[in-house]
Amino acid sequence: MASPDPARLSLNTATIRKQWGLAEAIEGCARHGIRGISPWRDQVAGMGLAKAVEATRAAGLTVTGLCRGGFFSAPNWRDDNLRAIEEAHELGASCLVLVVGGMPQGSKDLAGARSQVRDGIGSILPHARAAGVPLAIEPLHPMQVERACVNTLEQALDLCDALDERKSGALGVAVDAYHLWWDPKLEAQIRRAGAERILAYHICDWLVPTRDLLNDRGMMGDGVIDLPRIRSWLEREGYAGFHEVEIFSERDWWKRDPDEVLTTCKERHAHFC
Ligand code: ZN
Repeated sequence: MASPDPARLSLNTATIRKQWGLAEAIEGCARHGIRGISPWRDQVAGMGLAKAVEATRAAGLTVTGLCRGGFFSAPNWRDDNLRAIEEAHELGASCLVLVVGGMPQGSKDLAGARSQVRDGIGSILPHARAAGVPLAIEPLHPMQVERACVNTLEQALDLCDALDERKSGALGVAVDAYHLWWDPKLEAQIRRAGAERILAYHICDWLVPTRDLLNDRGMMGDGVIDLPRIRSWLEREGYAGFHEVEIFSERDWWKRDPDEVLTTCKERHAHFC
């Protein structure tokens, strides 16, 4: 299939978080001709929200998401999510990514955690809608269930259908190839989602062997995910958004020169995505 449009590449700033703060990441994207950026809230706070807004606008970048809200089992979840919605609004982010959290400490009640997530999203949704910030539920691979008890696209879409039946655009999903590539229902669930529900697409690769459950993601092309195939499923539904590179890599990419990382992202996006 055809190579992806280079203008669809976005940098999730987790990819260079050990080397660069947000100001440098914005400047780096502009310098490398990367048109999208998705910052993390601690980096936005480090730079200052107003400065981050100004710099992303000045660089002409699309903010393809703000990472992250969610963690509905945390004691301060409501205030924190309302603040995150406000920040995403200021940044003009395409969505606020929700990593929904797992079970409260000491609990074994997974079903209870999942209903807490549903209630939590339901309670912040009116605020997100009023602020014009779509909420993107990101299912995480089941090995990270303690960070997110939503683990498949089907589960995330069930939540969307329960809380936003009319597909208002206020609630959808972030499809992260790393978390979802293994799922035999992925193609069918992308079809079910349709373009209205797909608010973000995150890419990287699954290394064999994976040496760390959280921070050993691979650069596109270095692992076993058939990224062009997943992109074809998304595009068939009309998804025309960004392809956001999100690599947590303690042993490799966080140790490299960040300009080399960005150059590699561009090359690999062109050939392996
Ligand atoms: Zn992701």
